[in-house]
Amino acid sequence: MTRATKTYVSETVSRLKPSGIRRFFDLAASMEGVISLGVGEPDFVTAWSVREACILSLEQGYTSYTANAGLLELRQEISSYLSRKFGLFYRPEGEVLVTVGASQALDLALRAIVNPGDEVIVVEPSFVSYGPLVALAGGVPISVRTNGADQFKLRPQQIEEVVSSRTKALILCSPNNPTGTVLNQEDLAAIARLVEKYDLLVISDEIYAELTYDEPYTSFPAVEGMRERTILVSGFSKGFAMTGWRLGFVAAPEEVLQAMLKIHQYTMMCAPTMAQYGAIEALKNGEHDVDEMRKSYRRRRNYFVQSLNDIGLHCHLPGGAFYAFPSIASTGMASEQFAERLLLEEKVAVVPGSVFGASGEGYVRCSYASSLEQLQEAIKRMKRFLSRL
Ligand code: PLP
Repeated sequence: MTRATKTYVSETVSRLKPSGIRRFFDLAASMEGVISLGVGEPDFVTAWSVREACILSLEQGYTSYTANAGLLELRQEISSYLSRKFGLFYRPEGEVLVTVGASQALDLALRAIVNPGDEVIVVEPSFVSYGPLVALAGGVPISVRTNGADQFKLRPQQIEEVVSSRTKALILCSPNNPTGTVLNQEDLAAIARLVEKYDLLVISDEIYAELTYDEPYTSFPAVEGMRERTILVSGFSKGFAMTGWRLGFVAAPEEVLQAMLKIHQYTMMCAPTMAQYGAIEALKNGEHDVDEMRKSYRRRRNYFVQSLNDIGLHCHLPGGAFYAFPSIASTGMASEQFAERLLLEEKVAVVPGSVFGASGEGYVRCSYASSLEQLQEAIKRMKRFLSRL
């Protein structure tokens, strides 16, 4: 092959599509006066006590590597947090790993369990990383489509339709990004029966577990029989408003966790030390701050979802996270066209549902992690936009 036609990029990476969210961010960033309901992150600054703990660690000169698995004190705090909040029991030594965000945890989990060609079920609409991470691990992502009319809940029948002898694992995400849907104990128990029947592993992404508003939260490994089959992925980004700290964690049975640790020690060494000191403080004393943030999101959710329905965009009441996922079917537009026109004509940025998989078409994702004033203004602009159609 001559130099002009040769590519140095691997076939797997060449095949990956760039994230559809980025395009809208870039467009919105180039315009003035845009209200962005596009970003998937809290609008709170991390609690002061957490920032202070991080600063103190630097003042004390704690600037070296930690243990590969993370500071033992942090793993102990994670273990007691999982026990008091969700009734889970994981040993800090051997079953808990501190990672660089839930993002790295997902990557490690997949790389630790996937053999070439293994299938991993991804529930759509889904967080944009799952499919590409499965492919990068050498697996084949298999989509399951959930249904807006059923509030995007995953039903056992939908798993039955795609499961095969090559299926290794299922990625669950509750509360879900982008739909905000929460699977309750009954939903999870029904899924658990299928997981047992087909001998699957579950990667349970519970990064939004702190942000649920209506029912008590059930963590997947707390469902009978599921602890030994689950890789629990979580972190500090969303509930503790710590996206920039890049800190997450995994809890899993020892065999899988040690496999993940092996990859982690070669690729990452350890998560950032100063961030780990901040996280210890967040788990020790951060509950009140998390409660206040949760109350604030709940108020905004109630206002925003009601308002979407009032202006004619049907939207189910999402039980968690900070996303509303209204249907735009009444406009007759594709989600990409809707998002582009809304941005250009009214300067409101939302994310087209199609970027979260085919079943997201006909919907848009709006983050309500914005001030109430901004949300009110966004609704006013969206109403004006709809009235012109
Ligand atoms: N999982 C889901 C469902 C998310 O929405 C996100 C971030 O948007 C992540 C994982 C990644 O989180 P982190 O910042 O901990 O890497």
